[in-house]
This record gives sequence, structure tokens and C-alpha cells, in this order.
Amino acid sequence: MKVMKFGGTSVGKPHRMHEVANLVTRDEERKIVVLSALSGTTNALVEISDSLANGDRSSAKQQIEALQAHYKKFVLELLAEEEPRKKANHVLNEHFEFLTIILKISFSQALNKDILAQGELLSTKLFSIYLEEKKIDHVLLPALDFMTIDSYDEPQVGTIKVKLAQLLNKHKDTNIFITQGYISRNAKGEVDNLKRGGSDYSASLIAAAINASVCEIWTDIDGMHNNDPRIVDKTKAIEQLSFEEAAELAYFGAKILHPASIWPAQFFNVPVRLLNTLEPSAKGTLIAEKAGSVGVKAVAAKDGITAIRIKSSRMLLAYGFLRKVFEVFEKHRTSIDMITTSEVAVSVTIDDDIHLGEISKELEAFGTVEIDTNQTIVSIVGNEIAETKDVMKKIFDALEPIPVRMVSYGGSKHNVSLLIDRRYKDETLQLLNKGLFNL
Ligand code: ASP
Ligand code: MG
Repeated sequence: MKVMKFGGTSVGKPHRMHEVANLVTRDEERKIVVLSALSGTTNALVEISDSLANGDRSSAKQQIEALQAHYKKFVLELLAEEEPRKKANHVLNEHFEFLTIILKISFSQALNKDILAQGELLSTKLFSIYLEEKKIDHVLLPALDFMTIDSYDEPQVGTIKVKLAQLLNKHKDTNIFITQGYISRNAKGEVDNLKRGGSDYSASLIAAAINASVCEIWTDIDGMHNNDPRIVDKTKAIEQLSFEEAAELAYFGAKILHPASIWPAQFFNVPVRLLNTLEPSAKGTLIAEKAGSVGVKAVAAKDGITAIRIKSSRMLLAYGFLRKVFEVFEKHRTSIDMITTSEVAVSVTIDDDIHLGEISKELEAFGTVEIDTNQTIVSIVGNEIAETKDVMKKIFDALEPIPVRMVSYGGSKHNVSLLIDRRYKDETLQLLNKGLFNL
């Protein structure tokens, strides 16, 4: 059995949704098809929710009406026959009635989650009606019946596994199952979600729970690229990555895959394949236990980084100093990405500066604190690159004109990270593309 996940743009236009139906009927393997909301929908729902939270009902009303009009048009183009169109309009009425009712009740976090869930509920129901019109046998599995997270927002793979097995058992003759990405039930039994972009995470959790042969993530690019195609002219798709390499890349900015979606696949050893709906026969990128080849695979960048340097002569020969520093970050639930030390100073980076004020105040007790905002981590990822000849030389030769603020090397065998000011990012990525890949 396999999992096929389609992102927002893959279902965002009626003709694209038709293409998804072709793709899921291409082979006979039993499958669970995970869908995102139509592109733009979750953003629209966030706006509606924000308007309500701000008490601006008239904006919320307008936003709901605009979204409804969009869906009405979508249905007309998605479906050809009278009966399925009627059925789809009925589904729209049901969901938009809910959105209209919320205009009258008071806003809460639970309501916010209910609002955000509408996108995936709509996309899967509409897709199911389209399959029905095409007489394609399938079953719609409500994600809210099996996808659960605990009180720390952590998905419970064990529970998901048991619940899914029970549901699948009820439909032994069915080959195609459709379900919603992103949405889940929380510890209180309320509707919740796996955070923005979480449909990939749903897919890999489902793949882990059913021990799938493969977890296919379908988007509209031909796999993970060796560099950011928006910034660098010549990039190419990577054929194969290990789970570790993919995790580093996904975390450090490769937008194609949600970083959390790596661990379930890795832990349960389900290969992940990144595929392109616009070019279905292209190989895409395989993410599996083995890296495929040695050497540099890709460069990725993550913006919005803050660097903090703590200088203290008390650090000299002292033990326990780093622990005290780390405790400050732990206390404020802020995770550290990069770290470098010298005998009298330590520099760390964080990507979440909500508690920066409190953190820096507490750090001042240990020494002078310097803060640089607007930094970018550039990560060079590859199998055993730390041991690959000349990699460091090539990196530093390529980056000769760039002032590098921090270097992290040796933390893992698969990664070298550099910290630079955000304004040098584009140039850095371009120079590395030339220096490392000769592109
Ligand atoms: N629809 C959700 C979002 O836009 C989840 C997803 O597409 O992965 O964030
Ligand atoms: Mg996505």
C-alpha cells in the first residue's frame, strides 16, 4: 500500500484536480491519497479568522463571500453533470453556512482551528464527488477519525496506526482512499491541525502508520533542487538523498517538504519520493535510508536568524559556563540552531526572537551581549561532506568576497553551515552554485 499526497497547487485548479484523478488511477496499488486545501484557501481562512479575532465582522463577511464565489466557479468547471454539481453545491452550502454562523458567535482558539479545517474538508469532498462522477471506486476517510495529537501537539503514531487499521479493515475491497492532510484531533478531542504546511507531515505519519511501500509527495517542481531556483539561475533536481540530508535541507530552507515530515518516514523506514504533477514520469527525488552518493548535494538558506554573542573573561577556564547560557534559552523555550565557541566567547543563533528581550537581559549577567538581527544561515548539505576532499577549500574560495559571521563544521558529517548577513544571501547562493556544482 502506498501514500500519495497532493499539495494546494496540484488541486487548486479544476483541470489540475482532474489530473490528480488520472495519477491516482495510473497503477493498481492500494493507496491513501492525502490532499491539501486548494491553493490560497488556507491563507483566506487565516484572514477570515484574523478579521473575526479583531472584531471586524464586515471584513470577515466579505472574505467569506469572496471565497464562496471562488468555490462555486470551481465546482462548475470541475464537474460536468447535473447531479454531481448539485451534490457539490450542497457540500459548499454546508461549509459556507458554518462560516456564516461563526460571524455571530464569539471568537476562540478552538473556533479558529475549526475555521482552518474547512479547506481540506472541502478539497477532499469535492475530489470525492469528481471521482464518483468518473465512476472511480473509492472511500473518503475522515482524518478527524484517526489523526490525533497529544497535549504537546505531538502526533501519536501508535494510536493513528490502530485507528487507521480499523478503518481500512472495514473496506477490504477498496483500492483508493482519500483523506485530508493538515487536520487532526487534539488531546481534548477538538479539531486541530499540524501547523501550516502540515499536509506533508500527515502524509508521512499515515505512511508510517500503514507501513507504506512509498510516501509520494506530489508538487509542481521536479524534486528537491541543489539550490534555490528563485535566486539561482541554474539549479538541478537531486536524484537521491538520505533521510539525514533531507532533514537538514528541509529544515534549512528547502521549501518543498515540511521538515517534520522526515522523522516518521525515517523511523519507520518508508522511502519518500518527491514528484511533479506537471511531469509525472520524471524521476523526482528519492529520500531513503541510503544517500546514493558521497559529496555535496545541495545548498539551502534560512532567513530571519538572530545571532547572539556572549563575551566573558569568566568563561576562560571555567566549567559550567555553557550550561548556564543554555539554561537561559531553555527557560524561554527558544531553540538554538548554530553554535560556535572560542575561549572567551560563545555565539549562538536562534530563529524565533519572541523572547529575545528577556534572553539578552538574563545573559548580561554573564558578560557583554551583542546581537545581530537579519542574518541568514546558509547550509551546505551532502553525504560525508565533512570528509570529502577540498569541500572546505571550495566553499571558502567561492565565498572570498563575503563576510562570514559564523561557521559550523563537524557537528554532523552531512552539513557545513555558515552565518551571513541577509543582504549577502543571493550572492552567496550564486557563488556557491558556481564553486561547488560548477553551474
Ligand atoms: N493547507 C495547509 C496550509 O496551507 C496545509 C498544507 O497545505 O500543507 O498550510
Ligand atoms: Mg506544502
